[in-house]
Amino acid sequence: MKLMKKLALLLSLAFAATGCGSEAVAGVPETPIQQEAATDAALEVHFIDVGQADCALLVSDGHYMVIDGGNNDDADTIVSYLKKEGVKTLDAAVGTHPHEDHIGSLDAIINSFDVKTVYMPKIMHTSQTFEDVLDAIANKGLKIKAPNPGETFSFNGLPVEILGPQQEYGDFNNNSIVLKVTAGETSFLFTGDAEEAAEKDILNAGYDLQADVLKVGHHGSSTSTSDAFLQAVSPKYAVISVGTGNKYGHPEKVTLDKLQNIGAAIYRTDLLGTVVCSTDGQNILFNGVSGKTETTAAPAVAEPTEIYIGNKNSKKFHTEDCSSLPAENNRVYLESREEAISLGYQPCGSCKP
Ligand SMILES: [Zn+2]
Ligand SMILES: [Zn+2]
Repeated sequence: MKLMKKLALLLSLAFAATGCGSEAVAGVPETPIQQEAATDAALEVHFIDVGQADCALLVSDGHYMVIDGGNNDDADTIVSYLKKEGVKTLDAAVGTHPHEDHIGSLDAIINSFDVKTVYMPKIMHTSQTFEDVLDAIANKGLKIKAPNPGETFSFNGLPVEILGPQQEYGDFNNNSIVLKVTAGETSFLFTGDAEEAAEKDILNAGYDLQADVLKVGHHGSSTSTSDAFLQAVSPKYAVISVGTGNKYGHPEKVTLDKLQNIGAAIYRTDLLGTVVCSTDGQNILFNGVSGKTETTAAPAVAEPTEIYIGNKNSKKFHTEDCSSLPAENNRVYLESREEAISLGYQPCGSCKP
């Protein structure tokens, strides 16, 4: 198969190296962390508002790296954002997994900037989006570096630990590359769309998962952020990259509740737009303001005054105490009547929301 051949070619060295400790791709030598002492632990993470998708730009003293590349139609937004931030070269571009909302504009990013290393998991998607990314990688003469869990690479002297995927899974989300970036005494965990199965394996691998900032898995879906995983991470801040009125009902109320219960301040791109988080290695600021004092004041954590529950199948919506609520897996949580109606839901005849 043509696409399979393309991927195999781009991954060839990484595959050939399976079993070796290092899977470095030719021309991309590993940078021992010790060589670049992290005297300056400054790091900015820009969670760029790309709607129902992920795209984070990491900036450290003139070095840049992206984790995910939004949807296909986010190319202009992302490329102009990166240019505005002064990006010419990306030390690394990570496509956590081949879903469009994570690699959609990775081809545009690779075409627009010099990229030193591309990380993608060893799985193939038969989509045009995936093929476009492979073509962009090939046209730039780059190779894909497959993630090797347990390995750490350096981003301007800051350690980036690869925690997952721990194995090959039968679905895309669990194959997400999971990264922990440490800057001085602060740490950031990026989970892509990893779900409970992947979280469990990462937990069992025995890493120190504690992180100050958690990029919440799978846009706040209830299939991620399992209790044990969240407990191990114990984030002070949780960032959810999610689109307004998305059809999946992300972020789900159960996830928001869990994050609040653990005491994490929640920052959502659907409510706040692009979220910029910065650290000097000690303190963490969100959009230039101390995250700690913002914990209760942040609009992101404000509880909606009303909650309505929609039925994904019947497209009816109900009040929370209606006697004919749909089963949990058919529910969509809606914050207002307006939201429900704009998403095409009809009011239930018995509870008359
Ligand atoms: Zn996904
Ligand atoms: Zn996603």
